[in-house]
Amino acid sequence: MYEFTYRKSESVDEAVLIFGAASDPKYLAGGMTMLPTMKQRLASPDVLIDLNGIVTLKAIEKQNDKLVIGALATHAQVAASSVVRENIPALANLAAVIGDPQVRNRGTLGGSIANADPAADYPAAIVGLNATIHTNQRAIPADEFFIDLFETALEDGELITQVSFPVPEKAAYQKFPNPASGYAIVGVFVARLEGSSRVAVTGAAGSVFRAESMEAALDDNFVASSVAGVEVNPDEFDVDFNEDIHASAEYRAHLVGVMARRAVESISRVI
Ligand SMILES: Cc1cc2nc3c(=O)[nH]c(=O)nc-3n(C[C@H](O)[C@H](O)[C@H](O)COP(=O)(O)OP(=O)(O)OC[C@H]3O[C@@H](n4cnc5c(N)ncnc54)[C@H](O)[C@@H]3O)c2cc1C
Repeated sequence: MYEFTYRKSESVDEAVLIFGAASDPKYLAGGMTMLPTMKQRLASPDVLIDLNGIVTLKAIEKQNDKLVIGALATHAQVAASSVVRENIPALANLAAVIGDPQVRNRGTLGGSIANADPAADYPAAIVGLNATIHTNQRAIPADEFFIDLFETALEDGELITQVSFPVPEKAAYQKFPNPASGYAIVGVFVARLEGSSRVAVTGAAGSVFRAESMEAALDDNFVASSVAGVEVNPDEFDVDFNEDIHASAEYRAHLVGVMARRAVESISRVI
């Protein structure tokens, strides 16, 4: 391991100040991605700024009609939270199937979405629920946050503080997990918000995207047979489907249809 300076912040302002004064700094949340990245020397920050002392960023609460989750809330906290279970059970269920117990006990909401892994689960919920990402500088709508593979709208040093989720009428998430890591080969989050439907797909392409043909079908009739009838092929979407040792582009496209149908079916069982 090479040398670096470790700093632990107790406030957002302090973390941002330390970041601004360093030449190649990085924030550290759960460290589930950051530390392996450093070990592999894919990143070599001169200053590592641990956010875990900022206790206010761990809060999960209902604020008016929104569920607000702090950036440092771990996946295990979200999965176990009674406020999340009461308001958006689909979000608690999603957090409960991320990785394994070790990953869920360290990994955080903010770290997951800042990292923007194409196979991560949270991006599907963020886009599917039309959430808003709050940072130390601004509020970013979900549809503008994820740009591409490991790329977000965050500027250098911009720190995610919390995410606010509108409470949907109905929502569910289904994924076809990689059996080794748990990451989504394909995951689909389906929601009904203020009378319209949203379908967000993760794992299938370089970044999360919305399946608009499915949204239109669900707007007409929010039942599983509506999405089951939508033919999915890679050319239909304005994205390049991933193709790797785990699944071909065609197989991933097929999984989008299967996961969407299962998600809608599970809503009629749960709610
Ligand atoms: C074995 C394994 C299995 C996994 N399986 C899954 C899975 O099934 N599904 C899934 O979705 N994920 C999975 N993950 C990812 C994991 O859940 C974490 O979400 C992810 O590693 C990043 O979160 P973190 O809190 O550990 O962030 P860190 O690793 O600490 O940071 C990641 C990046 O985000 C930046 N960052 C962190 N917090 C903030 C913030 N508040 N504002 C701005 N930037 C910030 C850091 O600087 C860094 O660049 C897995 C990880 C591992 C190691």
